[in-house]
Order: sequence, then structure tokens, then C-alpha cells
Amino acid sequence: NMDNAYSEMVPMLERIESQRKELKRQMRVLADNDRMRREFTANITHELKTPLTTISGYAELIAGGMVADDADLRDFGSRIYREAGRLTALVNDILTLSNLDEAERSDHADSTSILGSMEPVDLPRMLDSVMQRLEQVAKKGEVTIVCDPHPSMVVGVPRLLDELAYNLASNAIRYNLPGGKVTLACGMDEAKRPYIQVIDTGIGIAPEEQDKVFERFYRVDKSRSKARGGTGLGLAIVKHAASFHGANIDLASELGQGTCITVTFPVQVWPDMGEGASPVVL
Ligand code: ADP
Repeated sequence: NMDNAYSEMVPMLERIESQRKELKRQMRVLADNDRMRREFTANITHELKTPLTTISGYAELIAGGMVADDADLRDFGSRIYREAGRLTALVNDILTLSNLDEAERSDHADSTSILGSMEPVDLPRMLDSVMQRLEQVAKKGEVTIVCDPHPSMVVGVPRLLDELAYNLASNAIRYNLPGGKVTLACGMDEAKRPYIQVIDTGIGIAPEEQDKVFERFYRVDKSRSKARGGTGLGLAIVKHAASFHGANIDLASELGQGTCITVTFPVQVWPDMGEGASPVVL
């Protein structure tokens, strides 16, 4: 009878309806990805053009014999050099992000050939090397390292973990207030998860900006960020490098007070500590 036929159809109709919703959701995701990709390309073009315009402007003056004064010549030369450095940093960051994108979409073997192999990384030693490289930009006594005395090892791609820590630390210095402090910390939380933490006493990030700063080329204050030599891709790299390692990012910040970013890795399991044993990640 009709009632029976109808009640048999109900689950099928519900299935169709839920499939329709899922398809619609997937189409929205695809459209979003497409929009983001187009925005990213437009941004890259713009970001590359700006230093190129400066470089060719000064180079043209020099090549045309328009710069008679020696001091001017040196000044223009150093501007060209600075902008070329900005271009190099930008191209390197774009390459790192595109490698991370590709690795996220491929299987383990491919991601190893794209990013490099996973190895045990000693966090205190890594933070130490980051601090040494930042010594030229940091003020004397500005940066301190506070690490758990226990060895905190993480299995990961060394270059990526290094870049993650370096980007966080260099932001902490670049957005610090005069006389402010930066602390690089690492250790193991109660759940035995290794973490690294970068704390500054700088300008802070307003609550409504805290998610956006991880987007590519998003800057709270464009001119300030650029004047301090940022590419606008630092935190996007941090986000993708963390996710590649299964790590969580926690950002706590208050305007005018400072920022604390914690990257917490999954529990690391070391199955057999015998000679030549290699660690695995849960
Ligand atoms: P940038 O190269 O511009 O620093 P990032 O991706 O590293 O790019 O950071 C994005 C934006 O987030 C920065 O332009 C800045 O406005 C803000 N930001 C990042 N780190 C900090 C920090 N420690 N304190 C305050 N603002 C920060």
C-alpha cells in the first residue's frame, strides 16, 4: 500500500538530501580554494613587483650616468642590495609554502622527497642556533632561552622546524617594544607532549586579528611590517609546518602587552633505544 511505499522511500530521500548537502559543501570548499589561489597569485605578483620597481629605477639612474656623486652611488647601490635581499626572502618563502602545499597533498614517500626526511631534532639546540642567527637583529640581552633540562626531542623535518622557530622568534623581535624582552622556551607538558614557546613583551595582536595573521600576506599594519623586513608569509609557514608535524598552535596576546605563541607536538614514542634505533611518531 501507499503508506508502506512512502515509508520505504523516506530513508532513501534522506540519503539523497544529505548527499546533496555534502556535494554543496564540497563545491563551496573548491570555490574557496580557487578564490584563495587566485588571491594568492595576485598578491605574489604585487609583492614581487614592488622591489623590482625600486631596483630597476635606481639601476636605470646609475646605468644612465645620472649619479655623479660617490655617496649617492653607494646609497643607491645599498638600496638595490636591500631590495634584492627582500626579493630573495620572498622567493624562498613562496617556495617553502608551495613545497608544504604539495607535501600535504601527497603520500609519505613523496613528501619526504619534497621536504626532506624526518629526523630526531633536539629542541634546545635548535632554539640556540635560532638565537645565534638572530643576534644581529636583536638588541643586547633582549633574547633569552629557557629550556627544560630534559632532552626534548621531536621527530620532524629539521629545516622546517628550524624555519618555524626562526619565524616566530624573528617576529617576536620585530614586533617588540623598545626595551622589551623575548623568551624562547621549550619543554614537555604534563601530557608528555614536547612544545616550543616564543614570548614577547611587544605590541600585541588584537583579538579580531589573531586568526587572520596566519593567512598568507595578511599584515596588521602593512607599512610597519614591511619596514621591518617581513615577507608577510612567516606565520603562514609556521601554520603549515606545524600542521605537517601534527602540532597545535596556541596564540595568546594582548595589545600593548605582548604575545605568546606555543607550538605543541604530539607525544613522541621511542620504541627501542638500542644502537641505531629510530624514533617513531604516534
Ligand atoms: P610579516 O613578515 O609581516 O611579519 P608574518 O606572517 O610573520 O608576516 O606575520 C603576519 C602579521 O602578524 C605581521 O605583519 C604582524 O602584523 C603580526 N604579528 C606577527 N607576529 C607578531 C608578534 N609577535 N607581535 C605582534 N604582531 C605580530
